[in-house]
Amino acid sequence: MARRPLIAGNWKMYLTTAKAVELAEAVAASCAGLSDREVMIAPSFTALTAVAEAVAGSPVRVAGQNVAWEKEGAYTGEISPVMLQDAGAGMVILGHSERRHIFAEDNAMVNRRLLCALQFELTPILCVGETLAEREQGNTFKVVEKQLSQGVQGVAGEQMKQVVIAYEPVWAIGTGKTATKEQAQEVHGSIRNVLAGLYEKTLADEIRILYGGSVKPDNVDSLMAQPDIDGALVGGAALKFESFDRIIHFS
Ligand code: PEP
Repeated sequence: MARRPLIAGNWKMYLTTAKAVELAEAVAASCAGLSDREVMIAPSFTALTAVAEAVAGSPVRVAGQNVAWEKEGAYTGEISPVMLQDAGAGMVILGHSERRHIFAEDNAMVNRRLLCALQFELTPILCVGETLAEREQGNTFKVVEKQLSQGVQGVAGEQMKQVVIAYEPVWAIGTGKTATKEQAQEVHGSIRNVLAGLYEKTLADEIRILYGGSVKPDNVDSLMAQPDIDGALVGGAALKFESFDRIIHFS
């Protein structure tokens, strides 16, 4: 079945509200009438409400960059799924490599966040990906399979249809080193096989798998031409309208 491509921008800890709104408005204007692909932006938590208002009525979707695993409670520094929705987000990035490697989030924690996101009807983008050392040791598939299977543990097939996976090799994030289209396709194909094993092939064929890691205007077209690459999770190049716009309008 045809999977609708998703181009997602992760603004990380950049852009204060005024700048975020300016960029969001430009993206929304450029996406007017776009129906063959989906576009998402993930601003910082403090800019979420203003950005959601800026893109209201456009096809652009808004996401949080993480979510807590409880609806509310004594969790200083965390944002609950209800708060994300209240701010206008309908999606959330989970298990980003910066969360895993800088903030020590493990698969169990990412899984709890994912289950909670689904419970509150946020579309999760689950990020997986190996470090350079893991790739060089030949452990790419093992690492990705573990992150994936533990990340979606307890997710029923029906709910799994809403989950988006993002393959982001850690060595390619923010480094300017993109995986070749062959390297990316190889891992995307294996992720789909793992999903087929965990669920069913027909379900695996419906799930979108994004590639992330130095996606730029000059490499997006060849990456998007791969059979198992269904979109892009874009960091640096999503912070500038010209580059993100070119990526959104990949051919
Ligand atoms: C990311 O933050 O998910 C990412 C892929 O960043 P970049 O595009 O800058 O490599």
